[in-house]
Amino acid sequence: MIRLPKMDHAAPSTLIDACSLMREQGEKARLLGGGTDLLVASKLRNVKPSLVVSLGGIPELRGIRFDEKEGLRIGAMTTLNELRYDPNVVGHYPALAEAAASVGTTQLQYMGTLGGNLCLDTRCMYYNQSEPWRKSRAVCLKMGGDVCHVVPKAKKCYAVFSGDMAPALIVYEAQVKLVDSAGQRTVNLKDLYTGDGKSPNQIKPGEILSDVTIPPPVEKQGSTYLKYRVRGSIDFPLAGVAVRVTLKDSGICQDCRIVLNAVSFGPVPVPDAENVLKGRELKEDFIDQAAEQATKAAHPVANAIGATPSYRRKMIGILTRRALMSLAN
Ligand SMILES: Cc1cc2nc3c(=O)[nH]c(=O)nc-3n(C[C@H](O)[C@H](O)[C@H](O)COP(=O)(O)OP(=O)(O)OC[C@H]3O[C@@H](n4cnc5c(N)ncnc54)[C@H](O)[C@@H]3O)c2cc1C
Ligand code: SF4
Repeated sequence: MIRLPKMDHAAPSTLIDACSLMREQGEKARLLGGGTDLLVASKLRNVKPSLVVSLGGIPELRGIRFDEKEGLRIGAMTTLNELRYDPNVVGHYPALAEAAASVGTTQLQYMGTLGGNLCLDTRCMYYNQSEPWRKSRAVCLKMGGDVCHVVPKAKKCYAVFSGDMAPALIVYEAQVKLVDSAGQRTVNLKDLYTGDGKSPNQIKPGEILSDVTIPPPVEKQGSTYLKYRVRGSIDFPLAGVAVRVTLKDSGICQDCRIVLNAVSFGPVPVPDAENVLKGRELKEDFIDQAAEQATKAAHPVANAIGATPSYRRKMIGILTRRALMSLAN
């Protein structure tokens, strides 16, 4: 059994207090959502915070609010289980409910929060290991060294982003609010991810992701999230695809969003696949062309246990096809 290292714990009751604590403590402090990832990373000594600041006692970070004109607002501390069963989410934004239902296990969905899921660290089979295991090899880029065990001569880390919620939110054009003691800023979720596995998102030390907003649903819109993993009962994705399609009254595709998961440093939008479908009927041959474009956009590397990069890439095409066929039907 690996024990948690000693660390202090603070439980502020307002967002302002949490921001002040984070500013005072700097990089020594880490935010704690449900802890389902941070505490595992702390046990493995991937991260070594001396203080964890729990967001669980801050009421303004909780809850789901839906308005037909304003759209959806989800507090960062909303659990995945709440999202999975919320009637407005299930009814108007089904890909979100499906993504939440696909995360880990029921227990993880009860504890895991939306904020924690979006801020998830990237994963690699050479990184998500105990400290003694890692010490048997040269220190890699993600841990501050200068080698990569996956991509020889790499100049950046190729650890993979595997959070299931981000692709599903991006197809709905979600925005996130980031708050710190100096103020707040709003960022399109698709721009939150940096394209470097070492520091996968652009959240600055001291910033807190407070909530996610999504525009109102539109008529004749369908969406879904599909994922491939080894054990359907627990595992992280090895490939995932979120799709949203809007049709005109004539049945022609007016708009389309396709975002891949678990094949890069962050979620991967695929405009080339979307463009195949826009202005056309959702027919099988166009769907096949879109799936081919999605496959081309996926570049997984050999850093996940359970499937080879070529198999994961193939699964991207299969999932894209399945998702589009289910919406077409
Ligand atoms: C066995 C197992 C299987 C899993 N399977 C999956 C899976 O299939 N899909 C998946 O997506 N995830 C999976 N996870 C990871 C995790 O359970 C979920 O991603 C969960 O949603 C993380 O949320 P959390 O609140 O527990 O995050 P935490 O562990 O609390 O935090 C994660 C990170 O986000 C930061 N953070 C938390 N909240 C905020 C905030 N509001 N603002 C800024 N930073 C914040 C933390 O500091 C930390 O760095 C799995 C975990 C385990 C242990
Ligand atoms: S991809 Fe390379 S640098 Fe990144 S965690 Fe894995 S081994 Fe380390």
